[in-house]
Amino acid sequence: MKKRIVILGAGYAGILTAKKLAKQFKKQTDISLTIIDKNSYHTMLTELHEVAANRVEEESIRVSLQKIFAGRRIDVVLDTIRTIDYTGQVLTGDHGTYPYDYLILASGSQPAFYGIPGAAEHSLKLWSYTDAVKLKEHVIHTFTCAMNEADPAVRRRLLTFCVCGAGFTGVEMAGELAEWVPTLCEHYEIKRSEVRIVEVDLLDRVIPVLSPKLSAKALRRLVKMGVEVILKTSVCKVGPDFIELERDGVCERLDTASVIWTAGTQGSDIALASTDLKQVGRGRLQTDAYLRAEGHENVYVAGDNTFLVPEGSAVPVPQMVENCEHAAKNIARNLQVAVTGQGQLTPYKPAFHGVMVSIGGRYGVAHVGAEGKRISLPSFLAMFTKHFINIIYFLQLLGWNKVFSYMKHEFFTVRKCRSFVGGHFSNRTPSFLLVPLRMFLGFIWLFEGIKKIGEGWLESPKLVLFFRGANQFFEGIINGTAGTDVTAGATGAVADGQVLINWDILGFLKIILVQAGDVALKIQFSLMDWFRDTVIYASGNTQIFFQVVIVLSEIIIGLLLLGGLFTTLSSAYSIVLQALFVMTTGLYMGTWWMAFAAFALIIGGGRTFGCDYYVIPWLKERWRKFRWVRKLYLYHD
Ligand SMILES: Cc1cc2nc3c(=O)[nH]c(=O)nc-3n(C[C@H](O)[C@H](O)[C@H](O)COP(=O)(O)OP(=O)(O)OC[C@H]3O[C@@H](n4cnc5c(N)ncnc54)[C@H](O)[C@@H]3O)c2cc1C
Repeated sequence: MKKRIVILGAGYAGILTAKKLAKQFKKQTDISLTIIDKNSYHTMLTELHEVAANRVEEESIRVSLQKIFAGRRIDVVLDTIRTIDYTGQVLTGDHGTYPYDYLILASGSQPAFYGIPGAAEHSLKLWSYTDAVKLKEHVIHTFTCAMNEADPAVRRRLLTFCVCGAGFTGVEMAGELAEWVPTLCEHYEIKRSEVRIVEVDLLDRVIPVLSPKLSAKALRRLVKMGVEVILKTSVCKVGPDFIELERDGVCERLDTASVIWTAGTQGSDIALASTDLKQVGRGRLQTDAYLRAEGHENVYVAGDNTFLVPEGSAVPVPQMVENCEHAAKNIARNLQVAVTGQGQLTPYKPAFHGVMVSIGGRYGVAHVGAEGKRISLPSFLAMFTKHFINIIYFLQLLGWNKVFSYMKHEFFTVRKCRSFVGGHFSNRTPSFLLVPLRMFLGFIWLFEGIKKIGEGWLESPKLVLFFRGANQFFEGIINGTAGTDVTAGATGAVADGQVLINWDILGFLKIILVQAGDVALKIQFSLMDWFRDTVIYASGNTQIFFQVVIVLSEIIIGLLLLGGLFTTLSSAYSIVLQALFVMTTGLYMGTWWMAFAAFALIIGGGRTFGCDYYVIPWLKERWRKFRWVRKLYLYHD
């Protein structure tokens, strides 16, 4: 009989574990894998604030489970699990029952309201894709209402936003909102001074997981962005249009239409309801050293659901993504042992590498490094590291597809320069403006190719003469003796010239820039010289072969660019050819533009008034139909 492994929850921990298990057991047909989630997509919770404050598109934080598991032997089930019978080994959801031999519980967390009256009913949450979208729509709605509101008190209430909690989630949300507000003010013609963003926390500093110095830095940034941070203050009540705050025994009411709750977490409903398992605190499940629920050897607990103080550590594992990544590896390894009965279980000993927090898209703080050796990073590096870490996760999640869409959303289409690299990568040139450049570059390549046919390039060997002539030209100028024209092969002597640059880099790369009438550049690369001397110079026939390749390449690139077909490939090949020329004969300044033009055309140059407009969408559709393409995520949407 088949061994059934069921993973509950397609969050960070569930997805990574499922992918590892699918790879590990891909040939073992006696093992079935099922992943169950109440959503048909995986949500990037760590980026919720970016959607909530309209920095990135909604779809950027939602990844289809069908896409993630395409081509893998795993059943993806859409259902909400209501109960788990740990004795009978079965999960029951709204749409079915799911027996298991091994269960991986990865159902994550949810906000905790600590019984504060009205908090659950009246505050906006930030714990799911729909929460983020709702929050964004709510903010836009309040500004829309405020724009037409003449009553100052109502207007003030509409334009007051209160973020409860100054942990990393709250600070990220408040920072992001503060960054968005100037755009909203401009759009709805509201003065920035009318908008209040208040952040409240019970503790005496923001983001307590950071060092006090970094907390202070984060606080300064929030204040600079116009956030009022109120510390050592608790929330006593939340209503539909107010929040009550208590400080030093004094209660104060703040009128606001927007209470955003980021003040605490507890286990998911299903974790809280798992009373058969040992619970610690608010719905975290005690595990043994192998991440198995205490007393239940066939139930593994992953991600935020886990409560474990690993050997050698003084604190429980953090409820963070890095814990999910480490746990996924450990559980996959231990399940292999459990299922096959071979090998030894490995205790969970994760090493964590710190925290990175963005305060808006342009600024970040980070405390990173090995345990006990953490360092603080300056803002630019903190943001760079945060994006880099995200990219590593996305590579595991959905390969190139997600990396591409992440870069697109975070850098190439970012609005209002809300990125740590500003808007430099997101300015768009309409591609129809590139059409003349594409046609001209295509024409020049075609012309060059046809000209070479006229010069006999398809008939007799010419490369030795051509390359040697070019070498003599550069050496002649460097050594102060008469050289040869760079483009004219052995003919056309040049009387004198001037060396502008002659750099020898580590003995294998030389950059030479000379002036002899026009300016000429040569990059001498020892590997290329070796290839030229041993392969190209080998015989007359090899020279003719390479000449034919060059002529055909020039003509084909020319035709493709003229027709706007495969423009990306032909532009890239155009750059490669120019690189080969600069490393063999060198290039006069008059032709350098061809390399830069090819760079300009490489993305989208043929998308208008060219065949790519029709051909690329057609090809994309067919390309995605290959199973291995979907499995390796070698496409983008
Ligand atoms: C706004 C925000 C910002 C954050 N920022 C960071 C950050 O910058 N860095 C960091 O390391 N961590 C961050 N975190 C924490 C991080 O997101 C969590 O540690 C991580 O998501 C935990 O992963 P998980 O797989 O355990 O749970 P989740 O990612 O929450 O996934 C749980 C899954 O289980 C599913 N599920 C739950 N119950 C059921 C049920 N009954 N039936 C079916 N499906 C169910 C859910 O739909 C969900 O898909 C942030 C969290 C939030 C909310």
